[in-house]
Amino acid sequence: MEVHVQPRTRSKMFCGCAIGELGDAPNTHVCEVCLGLPGVLPVPNKAAVEACLKTALALACEIPRHTKFDRKNYMYPDLPKGYQISQYDLPMSVNGRLDVSGRTVRIRRVHLEEDTGKLIHAGDRLHKAWESYVDLNRAGVPLMEIVSEPDLRSADEARDYAVELRTLLRTIGASEAEMEKGQMRAEPNISIRREGSTELGVKTELKNINSFRALHRAIIFEVERQKQMLESGGTIVQETRGWSEAEQRTFSQRSKELAEDYRYFPEPDIPPLELDRTWIEDLRRALPELPGPRRGRLVAEHGLPPSDMAVIGADRELADLFEGAVAAGAPAKQVANWIVGEVAPTGKLPSAQNLAELVKLVGDRSITRDQAREVLAESVESGRTPAEIVAEHGHRQVSDEGELRIVAAAVIDANPKAVADYRSGKKQVINVLIRDMTNRMPQANRQVAGEVLTELLD
Ligand SMILES: [Zn+2]
Repeated sequence: MEVHVQPRTRSKMFCGCAIGELGDAPNTHVCEVCLGLPGVLPVPNKAAVEACLKTALALACEIPRHTKFDRKNYMYPDLPKGYQISQYDLPMSVNGRLDVSGRTVRIRRVHLEEDTGKLIHAGDRLHKAWESYVDLNRAGVPLMEIVSEPDLRSADEARDYAVELRTLLRTIGASEAEMEKGQMRAEPNISIRREGSTELGVKTELKNINSFRALHRAIIFEVERQKQMLESGGTIVQETRGWSEAEQRTFSQRSKELAEDYRYFPEPDIPPLELDRTWIEDLRRALPELPGPRRGRLVAEHGLPPSDMAVIGADRELADLFEGAVAAGAPAKQVANWIVGEVAPTGKLPSAQNLAELVKLVGDRSITRDQAREVLAESVESGRTPAEIVAEHGHRQVSDEGELRIVAAAVIDANPKAVADYRSGKKQVINVLIRDMTNRMPQANRQVAGEVLTELLD
């Protein structure tokens, strides 16, 4: 699996152009360097090198003393220079690993390169009149390429690997890794083989997959296509294939180039980098707790089930929120329920202190779950504490049994028919009585009201 990730930087890989946003006007973030005009000098972006080194360290890679950039030569309209600056035989790092759902995936290398521009095709299908435009805003945007060894065995594992990688990148702050913004793209290489065979079959490479769902589906499709091809006596051609989201199938793009075809040679305008050991050790020490070990610790400390862990352990901010709220005194299981059920789906995070307070208000029955949902939304919006919001709205629940018993007695007096029905066995009539109670006292806790009524009626 090859994964391209855009490291978090303000400027491009070899010039001072801003990264810009998706949807910016075309060719507004360009200069002589990223346009590839003659006579300019590229200068490596330190922040990109640092993000790449952090990623390599988090993936337990070896970092050599020297690394260099190389030119990968090919001609394409989105690459006016006629070459891409990448890394060939001395990458930034090699020989790492990432543990994913019980399997160790070996990482072959993590290196740094630059993105190309983008072609926009427009035209009139009816008259077969086509026009293509070039937008070079992305040309020269830094990319890390993370290449694994062939250790993934299924579409599920490939998706889990990509998800885990995204969690890791976000945790260490190396990238936002937003697939929908093109900050992370997966290129699975897929081959099949007979059961028991140790030799990998001929592979095809799927280009530029930009969602986890597409990654999963494309691999399932491609495995099935290769299987049918071999079973019908055909052969697999080594090639690059695309994924059509509309048709949900892969299609041939071009026969695979070999490394020789690119005529790699050292980039003459950038001297090899000597990677300072002190810098690397500083980066290693500054890494936060990584997602895998953190999940293990959270399970051990709080006994959370795997379903909760799958959500909370996949996002550093959610894990921080969980630990913060528990540290503020709220029970772990309830905090996990609120994060998994209410916070994660909205993506809007309260402070740990406020979440803890909310969980406690529900726990001691001061407010109902429904009220708590509203309070949570309001607290996230305004930043005010749940206690303040509850006090202002006056929807603190009445859970005091003495107070509720007085109302319950009045309700029983006022509803002789319902009471008779209840006593003759129609237990569901209790809901009519509870409704009358909440009409008389809107802030009554429904559960306690039910308990008090039952107690009086039985
Ligand atoms: Zn530029």
